[in-house]
Amino acid sequence: MAPRTHIAVIGGGISGLSTAWYLAKAAPPTVTVTLLEATKRTGGWLHSDRVKDPIQDHHGGSLLLEYGPRSLRPQGASGLNTLELVKDLKLESRLEPILKTSPAAMNRFIYSRNKLHMLPNTLAGALSHPLILPKLPRASLDLIRGGSGREDESIQEFVTRRFGKAFSDDLISAMVHGIYAGDASKLSLRSTFGILYQLEKDFGSVILGMLMGGSGSAETAWDRILKEKILHDAPDLKDFIDKTSIYSFKDGIEELAKAMEHALIQTLVP
Ligand SMILES: Cc1cc2nc3c(=O)[nH]c(=O)nc-3n(C[C@H](O)[C@H](O)[C@H](O)COP(=O)(O)OP(=O)(O)OC[C@H]3O[C@@H](n4cnc5c(N)ncnc54)[C@H](O)[C@@H]3O)c2cc1C
Repeated sequence: MAPRTHIAVIGGGISGLSTAWYLAKAAPPTVTVTLLEATKRTGGWLHSDRVKDPIQDHHGGSLLLEYGPRSLRPQGASGLNTLELVKDLKLESRLEPILKTSPAAMNRFIYSRNKLHMLPNTLAGALSHPLILPKLPRASLDLIRGGSGREDESIQEFVTRRFGKAFSDDLISAMVHGIYAGDASKLSLRSTFGILYQLEKDFGSVILGMLMGGSGSAETAWDRILKEKILHDAPDLKDFIDKTSIYSFKDGIEELAKAMEHALIQTLVP
């Protein structure tokens, strides 16, 4: 008889929940999985609250507040992986997509130097944008710098090295706060924008790599196999991915954590 193995997963945020989920799916029956969470709720930063809308109150209106992340991206191998999870958890009817054509997806803003700047949607718009134009001479050094050979560094170090400090401070820092609510000088480049690392490694230049269509090179062979498998099993996801910029769920991003907790209790609790 195979010996019993007991695996403890520490932390019930999305990392811990998904680790426990995939372990529970893949491990043989001789493996016991325990998820340990220090607080009274799972989800970690995934935390949504629906409150009464003080203006629309008499119509029963409500507002959805997010304490942490508010959206997921469907693109790429990891996006597809999350969508497969959504499907496994039977959450498709709860999806709340923001279409690529929606003004919310097309119009993005950066507040910099006491002014709100609308970000460009086209290359021509980018090249003449007042926040970008003055930084172009320094940023164009990216074309001739070559690779650094570094295995990882902070987002700030990478962007400053390739495109200049002003580019990093005025544009990238704001963008990183918008996505991760985190500090660009502390977050790992490879864990957040692995594509940039890959373009530098493959082409010696981010701009050159993008011009040569190198964005797909961040995809590993495993990513491609995973994508093909998921789209083969669920071809309807392709349409969702093609049309959707970002998405959440009707009652917010925490629905994902709650559904995982529920499914794990069904699977893990004897
Ligand atoms: C404001 C904000 C906005 C964001 N927006 C987005 C977004 O729109 N899209 C996106 O993709 N990402 C976004 N992010 C990033 C995303 O939220 C995080 O990357 C993700 O939630 C991290 O999940 P995690 O499980 O690794 O960590 P956490 O969510 O921090 O979970 C860790 C869990 O472990 C528990 N724990 C800690 N120590 C112990 C212990 N010793 N024993 C037991 N349990 C323990 C904690 O209580 C917690 O529940 C955002 C982050 C923030 C803060």
